[in-house]
Amino acid sequence: MIKSCDVLIAGTGIAGVYTALNLNKNLNVIMVTKEGLKDCNSYLAQGGISTLLNEDDIESYIEDTLKAGNNKNDKKAVEVLVKESRDNIKRLVNYGVNFDREKDGSLSYTREGGHSKFRIAHIKDETGKYIMESLYKELEKRSNIEVIQHCKLIDIIKKNNKCLGGICRYNAQDIQIHSKATIIATGGLGGLFISTTNYPCISGDGIAIALKNDIEIKDINYLQLHPTVLYEKNETGKRLLLSESMRGEGGIIRNQRGEEFVDSLKPRDVVSKAELEQIASTPDKPYVYLDMTKLDKDFLMKRFPFIYNECLKRGYRMEKDMLPVAPAHHYAMGGIKVGTHGETNVIDLYALGEAGCTGVHGSNRLASNSLLEGVVFGYRCARKLNDELYCEVKEYPSRDKLNEFLKERLNNNYVKLLNC
Ligand SMILES: Cc1cc2nc3c(=O)[nH]c(=O)nc-3n(C[C@H](O)[C@H](O)[C@H](O)COP(=O)(O)OP(=O)(O)OC[C@H]3O[C@@H](n4cnc5c(N)ncnc54)[C@H](O)[C@@H]3O)c2cc1C
Repeated sequence: MIKSCDVLIAGTGIAGVYTALNLNKNLNVIMVTKEGLKDCNSYLAQGGISTLLNEDDIESYIEDTLKAGNNKNDKKAVEVLVKESRDNIKRLVNYGVNFDREKDGSLSYTREGGHSKFRIAHIKDETGKYIMESLYKELEKRSNIEVIQHCKLIDIIKKNNKCLGGICRYNAQDIQIHSKATIIATGGLGGLFISTTNYPCISGDGIAIALKNDIEIKDINYLQLHPTVLYEKNETGKRLLLSESMRGEGGIIRNQRGEEFVDSLKPRDVVSKAELEQIASTPDKPYVYLDMTKLDKDFLMKRFPFIYNECLKRGYRMEKDMLPVAPAHHYAMGGIKVGTHGETNVIDLYALGEAGCTGVHGSNRLASNSLLEGVVFGYRCARKLNDELYCEVKEYPSRDKLNEFLKERLNNNYVKLLNC
């Protein structure tokens, strides 16, 4: 079977969906996703999405990101991430994302490890779920976007260093999807690990396809362990993450003797390393504790309703019991090497979100910079494609369509139409 479209996107996490929504409505988009629409790490995100507070925060936010990344970050990408964060948060709000707010209506911010300020917008402790629900609702309204679920990208079609589309497996059949641009937004590779916070289906497929096609990969050796993943004896696969914002709100990490052995708000690599050193000396108890007992039960239930209930199901009452935690695989800093519009070294092939690597995270991602990465670079990629593919519209649209189209372009301050 052969299908064709303007833009093929593999993956329905935040990077894929947000990019699709920001493509012009006159472009035909096909999205394929390996399992169900919502089976993505984006849906699991708890803590929040980081954002620049105001112009005075630029230097400090950049510094926090570089410090967490051990200065191995691409500085240009970091600047883009920080400076374009607020506009993309506004776009999310326009898509209906209802971030938690203070009484005066301003965004309510939390803090996580490595951040010198409270600058993380959130929705309780299920930020990803609420963001994605709003984006999926928006997706349903777009008649130019076709979503094919349970359809797995297995290769790209490449000729003379140009990508001509993808090959997907659907119902045990291979479909060729021809496209003018192809976006790999298939996420990271946590599903390959025995102990991870990731969905099993997030298994590095995009990166494997890149390797097969000699596409450049970057920083693939930088893998992040999250320091507070609930320890459950004999459990394997996807584990329960205890959001870093729990430490931001006052949680403390303690060893088996109840001692605070590390600053709980240091970046993830520092805290995980300190925990592993402790765990090495207590092999019969391969975990440390996250102590939330100083916090009030009502606050905990209100601020962390999802995690509170998940812990309760497992017999822990957060306000009374210390929570056993150990590091587990969480995030891949590396991926398909891309520029700041998601462009790879193959013409018309892009990689976004966790599958791509702009180098923005260095060797250790700063908390809550990942959802942000998906939207900032996704928006840039969409804008680039809108500019490049726009003049290639073959069919002359009806008067109504043309009006709608013009309105949108002019709202976006595009004047290219006038030149076409
Ligand atoms: C438990 C948890 C909590 C987190 N909390 C936060 C947080 O609070 N803040 C933050 O910034 N980050 C957080 N992260 C990280 C963040 O959620 C992810 O890095 C980010 O959502 C990745 O988005 P993505 O769109 O690149 O990939 P994903 O959201 O993982 O989506 C990948 C998509 O690709 C599809 N796919 C995979 N292979 C194929 C294939 N071969 N063909 C077709 N489709 C395919 C998948 O089914 C999925 O739809 C968290 C991660 C986890 C696991």
